Amino acid sequence: MKQLSVLINGGGMVGASAALALAQHGANVTLLEPFPPGKDSGTDPDWDLRISSVNNSNWEWLLELGIGVCVRQQRVFDYQKLSVTSQSGHNLSFQANEAGLSKLGVMVENNALQLALWTKLRSLKNVDLREGETLDKLNAGTKTVVLSQGDTLSYDLLLGCDGANSIVAQLAGFHYRGWDYEQRCLLANVSLEKPIEPETWEVFRPQGPYALLPLTEQQACLIDYGLRDNINSLQRDKAGLEAYLRETFSPHIGNFRVLKSASFALQRKHAAHYVKEGSIVLLGDAAHSIHPMAGQGVNLGFADVRCLVEVLQENTPSVALDKYEKTRQGENAKMMRMMDAIQFGWRSRNPVMQFATAASLKVAAFPWVKRWLLKQAVGE
Ligand SMILES: Cc1cc2nc3c(=O)[nH]c(=O)nc-3n(C[C@H](O)[C@H](O)[C@H](O)COP(=O)(O)OP(=O)(O)OC[C@H]3O[C@@H](n4cnc5c(N)ncnc54)[C@H](O)[C@@H]3O)c2cc1C
Repeated sequence: MKQLSVLINGGGMVGASAALALAQHGANVTLLEPFPPGKDSGTDPDWDLRISSVNNSNWEWLLELGIGVCVRQQRVFDYQKLSVTSQSGHNLSFQANEAGLSKLGVMVENNALQLALWTKLRSLKNVDLREGETLDKLNAGTKTVVLSQGDTLSYDLLLGCDGANSIVAQLAGFHYRGWDYEQRCLLANVSLEKPIEPETWEVFRPQGPYALLPLTEQQACLIDYGLRDNINSLQRDKAGLEAYLRETFSPHIGNFRVLKSASFALQRKHAAHYVKEGSIVLLGDAAHSIHPMAGQGVNLGFADVRCLVEVLQENTPSVALDKYEKTRQGENAKMMRMMDAIQFGWRSRNPVMQFATAASLKVAAFPWVKRWLLKQAVGE
């Protein structure tokens, strides 16, 4: 990979991890990011609302990249148990020790992880960080781009890691299939009266699931998926929002105080191709945005990066990119189809569908099915 010149647009969690992994394998990397992560004063006691559950396999990989010493430890929380419950009360749970692990994964604040990746990147000589700059023009034939401040750069590989509205994808003419979910995702960080277990859980209802991500022993992120109009009107009424959250979550976790809340639109988008012109590649949300109910979005993005780095080590770039596209598009499509099936099954008011989803939980409790599901949860 030495001598390979890689230009990456977008330094979020996926783009920054791609920059770090490729640079550590000897590539010359230029990273463009209009909004680089700010310094962390280290004094804010409360987590930001944008949090990701990162599976054990991806977390180990991030630690191998060296982020362990850079990430603020108060913004990482190991979880050992994961459970899902149907509206009819069927429950399926996984424990880390069933997979011989000490944890299933970690909850990590997106900002803290991005900042840790950038701190590592700043220490590397073969990384050029272009902060505040964006990509204005692309000439795929000459493999050159023009930046917002007028510089022209050339590349061997151009990686679009610039999220769901990727400018690289627009300039290169990538096409997507997808739709807008008519749902929004409401997030509320809360301080709890009683300590909770290091367990993440989700309960399914026809209007969409609700879930908890543990952040510390006495802080959690509460998640509620609902119809766009319902969530929007809840957000306009602070007292109503708190009363609604209490009614939903207090039976599980007792009393709590809401620290902050916000909601996010949800969309499903999948690029028809991941590679164009033999040198332009999409990764992360630029290639696929997925319903967050199973906490897979950035995990799929990290899996894209790991795959790309692996194939580039073993093949010429053109063979590598072919392999990358085939492997990752297939894997990501599988996960997206699974999310669609779950969405449809759980939300359906059709008794046959409700029976089928309840039965699927029972099937999933069979030891070999459970072992398979557990492997998916930890990212193996
Ligand atoms: C409510 C919610 C909860 C979620 N929870 C989880 C979870 O628990 N686990 C999980 O795995 N995933 C989760 N996800 C998904 C996860 O947040 C995304 O998959 C992840 O952020 C994608 O990372 P990314 O780096 O590909 O894109 P982004 O995070 O969108 O980053 C893109 C980067 O590109 C930059 N950029 C944008 N435009 C340009 C441009 N023109 N030029 C240069 N740079 C540009 C942006 O500033 C940004 O830094 C969740 C998503 C939501 C909405």
